[in-house]
Amino acid sequence: MYGVKDQLRAELDQIEADGLTKNERLITTPQSAHIGTTQGDALNFCANNYLGLANHPQVVDAAREALDEWGFGMASVRFICGTQTQHRDLERAIADFVGTQDAILFPSCFDANGAIFEVLLGAEDAVISDELNHASIIDGVRLSKARRFRYHNRDMDDLRSQLEAAREGDARRVMIVTDGAFSMDGYLAPLEQICDLAEEFGAMVVVDDSHATGFVGEHGRGSHEACGVLDRVDILTGTLGKALGGGSGGFVAGPQEVVDLLKQRGRPYLFSNAVAPAVVAGSAKALELARDSDEPRRVLRRNAELFRSLMSEAGFELLPGEHPIVPVMFPGEDGARKASQVADAMLGRGVYVIAFSFPVVPKGQARIRVQLSAAHSEDDVRACVEAFRAARDEVG
Ligand SMILES: *Cc1c(COP(=O)(O)O)cnc(C)c1O
Repeated sequence: MYGVKDQLRAELDQIEADGLTKNERLITTPQSAHIGTTQGDALNFCANNYLGLANHPQVVDAAREALDEWGFGMASVRFICGTQTQHRDLERAIADFVGTQDAILFPSCFDANGAIFEVLLGAEDAVISDELNHASIIDGVRLSKARRFRYHNRDMDDLRSQLEAAREGDARRVMIVTDGAFSMDGYLAPLEQICDLAEEFGAMVVVDDSHATGFVGEHGRGSHEACGVLDRVDILTGTLGKALGGGSGGFVAGPQEVVDLLKQRGRPYLFSNAVAPAVVAGSAKALELARDSDEPRRVLRRNAELFRSLMSEAGFELLPGEHPIVPVMFPGEDGARKASQVADAMLGRGVYVIAFSFPVVPKGQARIRVQLSAAHSEDDVRACVEAFRAARDEVG
């Protein structure tokens, strides 16, 4: 390879020397609150399995039955011969749930975000993006020729300034794009103010609700429900890979014209395989379970509240909020090392959590991100808090 392998090795060595190597843990069981790993059993507090549907018996059954009824693979993109009636049914069910006219499935939400900006925005347009938006939004925006503006995380004064700048540039279309819930903080985007500003400046609002669809808002419809703007967000993107069964697939939900144009022009839709039949069926069942019962959401909220209150009592510093993402903060110079030592010590005690530090989060704001699930029992939550206490004592 003409010396390229040596160059790559040097790059890998540098990543290792910087302490940034990600080592994959090998899991030996289905995804669940309790998992087996090659290093022993663990209580799992780092999955996006918010509603506990990833290994729900009804979801697994639906997927298993779909193998018989619908077969294994599609071996086609959607528009050639890759659309079964169940693909369309799932799209309609998603649209119905999140409250839009229609929806379109993608192989992933990464792909949904890879399609939408290029299709909806040209060189005469502008896109204004929250600085903490997901990597797939950043990449998707790069694929469009629109002028790019960025505002500080959830900072509405800055958003106004950027809207003014975009309007001064005489943009044809202006789009504001934000995560509905930010994955490192569990904070919701201030969607009511964003929609107000959008109205004032004639801008579209696009929300990526990957960390919200199914469980945020009274009926789990998403961050737009939680913020009281169900009818004011123009377009939502989201994933089937988190709360809604955690299989794979993503979507764009919005007005008919948006969905129809994405079907004509969305490159990840046109040039990538259709979502597999069993995944469609399992996801449809997961969506149905999320829609038809508030009980898993109630359990999830109870778990998040219990965890937040027990951890606060134990003297840990948390970022405030109600989201089942609960960041346990380890501030200061020494925080990154401490957070990672505490996470290691907890794994030694059979509780799996992940520490994040710079560059994933700002310097001095290292944290352990805990993710609660409806699959956790009250005892699981208490065991996690106990492990935090013990690990803190051990690390000092
Ligand atoms: C997880 C996530 C994605 C990616 O979803 P996939 O379906 O796994 O590609 C996109 N956007 C946000 C905000 C996410 O949290």
